[in-house]
Amino acid sequence: MNIDCCNFNLFISQIVLNVFKKYIQDDEQSPESGGIVTGKVYENDMIEILNCSEPSELDTSSRYNFKRSFQTAQVFIEKQFEQSNGEEIYLGEWHTHPEDYPKPSNLDIKSFIKTISQNRLNSKTHFMIIVGRVSIYVGIYNNKKLKKRITINRI
Ligand SMILES: [Zn+2]
Repeated sequence: MNIDCCNFNLFISQIVLNVFKKYIQDDEQSPESGGIVTGKVYENDMIEILNCSEPSELDTSSRYNFKRSFQTAQVFIEKQFEQSNGEEIYLGEWHTHPEDYPKPSNLDIKSFIKTISQNRLNSKTHFMIIVGRVSIYVGIYNNKKLKKRITINRI
């Protein structure tokens, strides 16, 4: 999937979209899920979100809350970095919401800013992705400030 984001083009791989699809909270009980996204940043204004981690046993999740394990994320980031010879880096976070058109909560925003400030293998641009039941919210952050929001309709 290719998306035009003002000053760059964003590509999201089918692998990532399939993971999002798998965890959509489309029944009464399913908990929030989430993980991180990794990908490549090109000089010619192209960003590719290529992979994402899936929920692990070390995460804490409930119907309206998801807290991913720092440890699991770190292992995933290092694995992607090595397998790509250092080209694939941490690009942000994803999680699900049990609502049709998801919006980040104040806590989501607060913890996202905190998380991207702590990451070592870093890009200037980060993505906060929330997978809802009908659409996907993508908040595009540049230097830790929200630059643009996009909505992707049902995948
Ligand atoms: Zn949330």
